[in-house]
Amino acid sequence: MNMIDPFGRTISYLRVSVTDRCDFRCTYCMAEDMAFLPKKDLLSLEELDRLCSVFIEKGVRRLRLTGGEPLVRKNIMHLVRQLSRHLESGALEELTLTTNGSQLSRFAAELADCGVKRINVSLDTLDADKFHAITRWGHLDKVMAGIDAAQAAGLNVKLNAVALKDFNDAELPEMMRWAHGRGMDLTVIETMPMGEIDADRTDQYLPLSLLRASLERQFTLTDIPFKTGGPARYVYVSETGGKLGFITPMTHNFCESCNRVRLTCTGTLYMCLGQEDAADLRAPLRASEGNELVADAIDEAIGRKPKGHDFIIDRRTSRPSVSRHMSVTGG
Ligand code: SAM
Repeated sequence: MNMIDPFGRTISYLRVSVTDRCDFRCTYCMAEDMAFLPKKDLLSLEELDRLCSVFIEKGVRRLRLTGGEPLVRKNIMHLVRQLSRHLESGALEELTLTTNGSQLSRFAAELADCGVKRINVSLDTLDADKFHAITRWGHLDKVMAGIDAAQAAGLNVKLNAVALKDFNDAELPEMMRWAHGRGMDLTVIETMPMGEIDADRTDQYLPLSLLRASLERQFTLTDIPFKTGGPARYVYVSETGGKLGFITPMTHNFCESCNRVRLTCTGTLYMCLGQEDAADLRAPLRASEGNELVADAIDEAIGRKPKGHDFIIDRRTSRPSVSRHMSVTGG
């Protein structure tokens, strides 16, 4: 039953964007004035559960809910609770999510109760004014309360920060000390040219090779083989005793070990974050009560998974490499 793509990679990781909506408008992610999908185009939570369950039957072992902001989807905990049966049965090794943290105070305890062990919280700065500026709509104190609630509930929290030139590059050492001091790993991410935004990405883009070189002037970084199933490459930081991850879609392509596909809230499957090709799973899902049609559509899509992405950010390339925003497929 395993899903194996044309390059011999086994697909065992599904990321599901449960909504394209978000309660933030991060400047590198979205334009301020975004058009979102009409509610009628969304798969119901039952349909999302059914699709996820087909993927699990076909060999998915790790499932991450993302968005948009997954915790703003109405009744999202119903889906988490439903999916947790696959943890109990042992079919799924891990159920997790990526969140901006704004709703975590409400949901952290229930997530833990559903068997979620660790979550990623996106946080680009510890400065309240800068936080409000980068997210346009967000408030740092709410996110901090969310992180507190998550840790109090026993969830292992990893922070994700998009490295942005002249925004948080100088602050990242401090953020790392803070995260490690609270027992959280930190991963830094290169900004990717996805979707039209109001700013020029060339001004925001910070190659992580430069960030690493600058960190190495202050810290002892040792490469370690630690893996969480995602694309980050980790170092151990001697001075803080914590781990720092680097996700480098721009400067170092990690596609050779890609094990994942991405499902949107309309049932569209993207086989690569950085390519436009996609497969519609909603029609085969709705065409029959059985799962054969959708399973066949998944096989056909995996057979088209491309070798990798090729993102470009430079002054001559003004258009994004892919037209959709990150919020369509989630991070
Ligand atoms: N709302 C959730 C959150 O904030 O984590 C989940 C969705 S969000 C799109 C997932 C991650 O993608 C966040 O860490 C966000 O910072 C990151 N992101 C958004 N646009 C990006 C871009 N163009 N390049 C790199 N990372 C991006």
